[in-house]
Amino acid sequence: MSKIMGWVDARFPASKLWNEHVAEYYIDTLYPSLRDSTTGNFLEWNVVCQIHNTGCGRTVYGNSKKNAIERWNAGKIDENLG
Ligand SMILES: [Zn+2]
Repeated sequence: MSKIMGWVDARFPASKLWNEHVAEYYIDTLYPSLRDSTTGNFLEWNVVCQIHNTGCGRTVYGNSKKNAIERWNAGKIDENLG
């Protein structure tokens, strides 16, 4: 992880923002957002940069936890509530 951060810091001054978003994941901003009422399984997940936690409102959806995290880390923005 630190190797990657060093690589990013050396090349992009914007890495502070990237750090912010990676850190946000660890503050547990991944939520199930849609549930199948017959099976009880979650069909959709979202990752939100919480405005009430001084975040920017960026929201990313995925059809699984893993998919939502991958799309978040890829820099996707599905909604911006900010
Ligand atoms: Zn943010």
